[in-house]
Amino acid sequence: MSDLRHLSLDGEASLEVWIRVALDVPIEGLFDYRCAPGVAVGDRVIVSFGRRNMIGLVVELPSEPRCDPSLVKTVETVLKDIPPMTASWLKFTKFAADYYQRPLGEVVMPALPVALRSLSAYQGKRSAGGPVERLDQRRAPKLKSTEPSTAPELNAAQQHAVTLISAAQGFQPFLLYGITGSGKTEVYLHAAAKTLARGQRVLLLVPEINLTPQFEQSLRARLEPVAGPGGVAVLHSALSDGERLRAWLRVQRGEAKLVLGTRLSIFAPLDDVGLIVVDEEHDPSYKQQDGLRYSARDLAVWRARDLGIPVVLGSATPSLESWVHAEKENYKRLDLPARAREVTLPSVRLVDTRRLKMEHGLSVQLLDAMRARLDNREQVLIFLNRRGYAPALHCTSCGWVSQCPRCTTFTVLHRTTPGRHQLHCHHCGYQQRVPQACPDCGDQDMQPIGRGTQRIEEHLGMLFPEARVARIDADSTRKKGSAQALFASVHAGEVDILVGTQMVAKGHDFTNLGLVGILNADAMLFSQDFRAPERLFAQLMQVAGRAGRHTGHGEVIVQTGYPEQSVYQALLKHDYSGFASHTMREREAAMLPPFSHQALLSAEARELNIALDFLQAAKEAAQGLLQAQQTETLITLYDPVPLRIVRVDNMCRAQLLVEATHRPALQALLRHWLALLHDHPDLRRVRWQLEVDPLEI
Ligand SMILES: [Zn+2]
Ligand SMILES: [Zn+2]
Repeated sequence: MSDLRHLSLDGEASLEVWIRVALDVPIEGLFDYRCAPGVAVGDRVIVSFGRRNMIGLVVELPSEPRCDPSLVKTVETVLKDIPPMTASWLKFTKFAADYYQRPLGEVVMPALPVALRSLSAYQGKRSAGGPVERLDQRRAPKLKSTEPSTAPELNAAQQHAVTLISAAQGFQPFLLYGITGSGKTEVYLHAAAKTLARGQRVLLLVPEINLTPQFEQSLRARLEPVAGPGGVAVLHSALSDGERLRAWLRVQRGEAKLVLGTRLSIFAPLDDVGLIVVDEEHDPSYKQQDGLRYSARDLAVWRARDLGIPVVLGSATPSLESWVHAEKENYKRLDLPARAREVTLPSVRLVDTRRLKMEHGLSVQLLDAMRARLDNREQVLIFLNRRGYAPALHCTSCGWVSQCPRCTTFTVLHRTTPGRHQLHCHHCGYQQRVPQACPDCGDQDMQPIGRGTQRIEEHLGMLFPEARVARIDADSTRKKGSAQALFASVHAGEVDILVGTQMVAKGHDFTNLGLVGILNADAMLFSQDFRAPERLFAQLMQVAGRAGRHTGHGEVIVQTGYPEQSVYQALLKHDYSGFASHTMREREAAMLPPFSHQALLSAEARELNIALDFLQAAKEAAQGLLQAQQTETLITLYDPVPLRIVRVDNMCRAQLLVEATHRPALQALLRHWLALLHDHPDLRRVRWQLEVDPLEI
């Protein structure tokens, strides 16, 4: 590494500057080092921390260190292989760190490509020159050339939306509310093209699942004529480290004018942005579920405000948060009422399963409708959000049920190869052979309980021997490229009946799909989470929207034991706004988000009591702070409770909910509270984390 030490100290104290560095370590605060001059805020440095070296980011050049200068270590190396991260980017990441109450290092470092933050890339055997130089020496893979495609003509509502977005001056959030097939994407593309033509850049966020190669291709075809060759960069989690670095560098160097990406690309080093778009803004995949638990959608709005630019949130089923903003006119609502291709919406039928005799979980009504569609050479989608063969195995003589030894949950029966089964835990990954006989009573009559996608696929194969049945779920698409191949065969008409989980719900435009059957949606309805109906409705609308997109006369059949529930009643009429008003009133009465703000402190320990005691102590500490801050009337602290699935992988889990009517009071509490929690004596036995604006409770 000696050739990389070009900026290291030569020992002359007069030439030193102090730097403050953000490191990705689970310790609060920033870390001071000495460094030779020439280092800039936004540069990366190799420093020694504890017993090892790591890469960190310089975030300040303080005039003096926070601790005894004689204790301050010297930077090993300043990395100058990329330009420093900009002030506007740092401001944005600081906001995210403050808002979500995490150390800055946990925000800035994971936002960089792996190659730019891992020491081995700079200090390993093959490190000569570092990853950036090595990449630059390699020839860039030739981008597949795209045939430029021309934009279709917009209808009046689309045109209106594009005009307003393009005319927006300064910060302006838009909620683009349009049913599936109403042409939201065309609005994004037109608005993006106008922004690019003005010489500004565009950030387009999509949920992970929407980022199909087809979408990327059509986007390139449409926007490369404006953005220039190579002017579109794509950032998502399926990229290899090298691909990701290459795309990221094109963004940082300003070559990429439009960035298309999933949630992490909200942290792309993109200056001169003129427009941010968040497609399917309600999608839970915008929320990071570990580490920095951020919402890319919420950060997109903040970033747009900070930059003074328009931001477009698009959805057929907006989150209640965004809907309420639109009702209060914080966001401007743009409606796309019609399906762009002028085909009618699918009709929805609820089949009440309470008094029905079902055949393998399928009602006569659904089977008849399937037969009719198949006879008419149309495709059928059976939606069941439960993978595996059956949710559990049980003994018919004594009632034994297959259970995970490490979690308080059932193990799911999976068919591994035809005729062979295994039990899998979906929570900890535990796998087990199916016992030959009941472990409790020795009886050999073990039966699966309920149905997962594999079992439904098997039944349908028997019920429709002539039909070609395929299944798309996390199990059938494990191999790289297999999901693409499966979807391609559906598009090519090689599949008559498709069985799938939520993987098939979004974004796929099946041209010949006439019927969607929805099984077991009720399971989601009675979750304890107050957002469950909202999420279910969004999912049902999305699945339903797959039917009849091209043929018209599509049909959706929902099997339910609770047809009177508002979710289903609203689905019958494709009535999101009715559903939203109803749900909004309920939330307002109960003072739930978006009418209040929440934070969730979760703890896990080997024994439940330890986790609960920690949370109880945390609650009492918070009560003390509320009294001191005189904000008791603004903030409610609930009692610590165990999670519904209390034990996962032998750790017992509990949580404490904090609810506030006033966001600044909540943020003030959290800041001081965190400092106290970090000093709690029980930390050896408890793992805890705090989540701001939790999505799941
Ligand atoms: Zn038994
Ligand atoms: Zn388990």
